[in-house]
Amino acid sequence: MKNLLTGSENLEPEILAAVKIFDEMREKTTDPPGITRPSYGEGENIAHGFVRDLARELNLQITHDYAGNLYMTLPGKDREAPSIIIGSHMDTVPHGGNYDGAAGVIMGIAALHRLRHEAWQPKQDITVMAIRAEELVWFPTPYAGSRMAFGLLPPEDYDSLKRSDTGRSLADCIADLGFDVDALKAGKAWLDAKKIRHYIEPHIEQGPALVEAGMPVGIVTGIRGNLRYPFCRVEGTYGHAGAVPRDYRCDAVFAAVEFSSVLENHWNDRDIAGTDFVCTMGEFHTDPVHHGMTKIPGELRFTMDIRSLDFDVLLDTDQYLRKEAARISQERNVAIDLGEFTEAHPAIMDNELRSMLHEQAKNLEIPVMDISSGAGHDCATFSIQGIPCAMIFIRNDKGSHNADEAMDINDFADATRLLVSFLKTLD
Ligand SMILES: [Zn+2]
Repeated sequence: MKNLLTGSENLEPEILAAVKIFDEMREKTTDPPGITRPSYGEGENIAHGFVRDLARELNLQITHDYAGNLYMTLPGKDREAPSIIIGSHMDTVPHGGNYDGAAGVIMGIAALHRLRHEAWQPKQDITVMAIRAEELVWFPTPYAGSRMAFGLLPPEDYDSLKRSDTGRSLADCIADLGFDVDALKAGKAWLDAKKIRHYIEPHIEQGPALVEAGMPVGIVTGIRGNLRYPFCRVEGTYGHAGAVPRDYRCDAVFAAVEFSSVLENHWNDRDIAGTDFVCTMGEFHTDPVHHGMTKIPGELRFTMDIRSLDFDVLLDTDQYLRKEAARISQERNVAIDLGEFTEAHPAIMDNELRSMLHEQAKNLEIPVMDISSGAGHDCATFSIQGIPCAMIFIRNDKGSHNADEAMDINDFADATRLLVSFLKTLD
């Protein structure tokens, strides 16, 4: 991985402190190829430890909630005024990169570092929140950490959600680290939406748009909502590949392939109509224990993920796909079951905050562009509760959720300067 300090000679002390954390965190959570920081696992704890140590050095007020989300606060002049939260997550996917999530938390700390350096006291508290369990690969539910902070995770989820690598329940993982499962199961909220003025989430960009456009920083317009189907299944009947005539076959693979083209044609129609929509199918496989080349496939499993900035588009698509699944099932004499699904609502960023960010970027002569977020973020948890939110994207080469993520520290520094001057305008 690239040395962050290349070309960073004139950086501010808060950016150099951030570089130190990035480097130390990478060293301590390396899992070749890349970085692994599981939700409620060792890597996530290590990352929390690094930001907590720096927060302590900066004399910020430090606390954590029932779920182990970490809060580091620069006190404002009016302690009762609704606060500003700058947050993101510290966990990663297996063999991911060093910046997805962590860059946002570290930028928040860097911004408070700068404000401390200038002895600048905000009007209201500014809190940096290091959020637990954002990466869905560990516990299959969206934004677990931020939803727990508001007491929004259904009580039954604590025992039913199992970590994908260890099989331990979310409740056990939380208890292992000494946090308060009983309070969580009782639906106790640590955060109150009414006491939060704004939520700001800085994050690396996970697509190629900023790199392609040559822009160091993006200002996010909205986060796509999604419906995710991890357990889709087509049940047919196994049979002899040569002996069964076509009319008597119940072929799971051909049925699944027809279903996939229905989905792709639906995507084409959405594109033609100019509707925001993307979809993905995967893990498309027969059972190798039961299936071989000379057998008609009797079962196929797949996953499906559909996303849009408009939740109604997702609900309409769900209805349409169920109808088509029933039609294909009947015509091909199979059973297509889409199984359980999870939903996450889209989040639209606050227009006023977006204009303020644009204005500050112009003052600082930092080139920025508007950009939508295809990936989900904890920001959605805050936004759907009516808290005005903003997201700042940092240019990042080679996407995310892989070992090759590459953020330039100069872009991080630009985004931090933008965040600092934006915070100062919130007085
Ligand atoms: Zn992320």
